[in-house]
Amino acid sequence: MTMSSRRQFLQSSLLATGALALPRTMVAGNTIANGAAGGRVVSTWDFGVGANAAAWPVLARGGSALDAVEAGARWAEADLCNSTVGHCGYPDRDGVLTLDASIMDGDGRCGAVGAIEDIEHPVSVARAVMEKTPHVLLVADGAQQFAVSQGFEKKPLLTDDARKAWREWLKTSEYRPKMNVERTGTPGDAHDHDTLGILSLDAHGKLAGACTTSGMAWKLHGRVGDSPIIGAGLYADNEVGAATASGVGEEMIRNAASFLVVELMREGRSPTEACREAIERVVHKRPAASKTLQVCFLAIDKHGEVGAYALHPGFVYAMHDATPGPHDKLIAAASIYGGNVVR
Ligand code: ASP
Repeated sequence: MTMSSRRQFLQSSLLATGALALPRTMVAGNTIANGAAGGRVVSTWDFGVGANAAAWPVLARGGSALDAVEAGARWAEADLCNSTVGHCGYPDRDGVLTLDASIMDGDGRCGAVGAIEDIEHPVSVARAVMEKTPHVLLVADGAQQFAVSQGFEKKPLLTDDARKAWREWLKTSEYRPKMNVERTGTPGDAHDHDTLGILSLDAHGKLAGACTTSGMAWKLHGRVGDSPIIGAGLYADNEVGAATASGVGEEMIRNAASFLVVELMREGRSPTEACREAIERVVHKRPAASKTLQVCFLAIDKHGEVGAYALHPGFVYAMHDATPGPHDKLIAAASIYGGNVVR
């Protein structure tokens, strides 16, 4: 898919604005949320529709949530050409594309890679870290060496489009992350950060999640965001639920945010309430900064109820389960600032 395909992809998806209340009414009185008995997968952003479509067949044949989220993340890394995830991602300020990814299941098994170069499927390397090493996180050269030792091919990933965008950026060299960019179709409207965060509950009642991203475009070389930090960009616990994040990752790391969302659900908050409270924590810590940057959370509990919340309007997520389609509807999350505040 080309960069403009992401736009077309979004345009062909139906935006279900104000649909936030749906997951909550779906669970009323049920142990398993309506439609979630055969499993459910949810993913961040418009490209979450495609990731869910890649993950769903795994769940539909009775496969594990872990396999499902890996399949969804791999789709986003390779098949979707997108300026913020995988091989079409924008590089750092030195023109180097570095990728971050993590994977975790609800039993507490997890693996991650940070700032890995020239490897197309960081989420699968993260899974190999989880399954084949005594460690959780490998970074940079070490992560790449490990990937090659496991049979992953090393190949240059930076696309011509991304190189062109970097050369353009060099003219000002300003690090000013954009928030909820309008999709106008002009070259300057490309997103400079977003993550595929994918969460799944399988038919056996097990949870898993994965994150994959090229991080913040024009970041300092060596910068690692929240996505490969377990507890910041991703957390899962079969006893409670799972959470993931997108937006400026430094805020998630400061607040151990995905862990916070899961712990708030453990205390009895619904997924939406937990996400909202975590967003409020971000605002409380840095009120001025929170007005200029985007932070978004997506969560699913052990019953399959789903919720989300963002700092600013514009965050959407996709959901896929056994309910008859269409499954290309995007659900708009409520936000603390501006517009669609739902409480
Ligand atoms: N959280 C990612 C990072 O900071 C970027 C994003 O999801 O917008 O690397």
